[in-house]
Amino acid sequence: MIRNEDFIQSKQVPGPTKEEVRCLVMCKAHICKDDVVLDVGCGTGGLTVESAQRAQEVISIDKNPEAISMTQRNVIKHGLLEKVRFIEGDALSVMTELPSFDVLLIGGSSGELPQIISKGYEKLNLNGRIIVTSILLETRVEAVETFKKLNMIPDVVEVTIAKGKITDRGTMMMGRNPITIISAVKNEDGNP
Ligand code: SAH
Repeated sequence: MIRNEDFIQSKQVPGPTKEEVRCLVMCKAHICKDDVVLDVGCGTGGLTVESAQRAQEVISIDKNPEAISMTQRNVIKHGLLEKVRFIEGDALSVMTELPSFDVLLIGGSSGELPQIISKGYEKLNLNGRIIVTSILLETRVEAVETFKKLNMIPDVVEVTIAKGKITDRGTMMMGRNPITIISAVKNEDGNP
């Protein structure tokens, strides 16, 4: 896993997804060397860079041009430019034009999560995975409901990470906000 401080960051662009959370997302994504990964809402490029180290190709989408250039900078910094395609635009309209893929990571959806999951499901290869990372309560519910409608069985993991801060008196544990990772696999019969 790449350390948080090894990403170029800016206050204008969210991310990178914290190292420990990236670890869980990669665990659920099961990326193989032949996989094509779609990173929807690539932000700073945290998940794009991790995926590019494991996959054949990553397609990174963000509606914010600053996020695209931040992701680009991080991809270049980690020497992965030949593996990544960058597309600026709204995920739903961009996805319509794309060929099939093996892994769909969703880190941002601006109210269109059910549609993005459903469109992703259509384009997902068999045994493909969809992984949603959510900070909002509403997103979790929407993700679970949408997976169920598609006959996919959602795997839901919530993590609350606390990091130790070294102080004069000892190591103080500082809690972060809970993150939920909702993932599902596309199988013929809808079973894992
Ligand atoms: N996973 C990223 C952080 C994601 S932040 C990282 O590790 O760096 C969420 C991003 O989703 C934001 O940059 C936002 O612009 C983008 N986003 C939100 N809704 C979107 C949509 N409908 N289409 C494309 N990008 C979207």
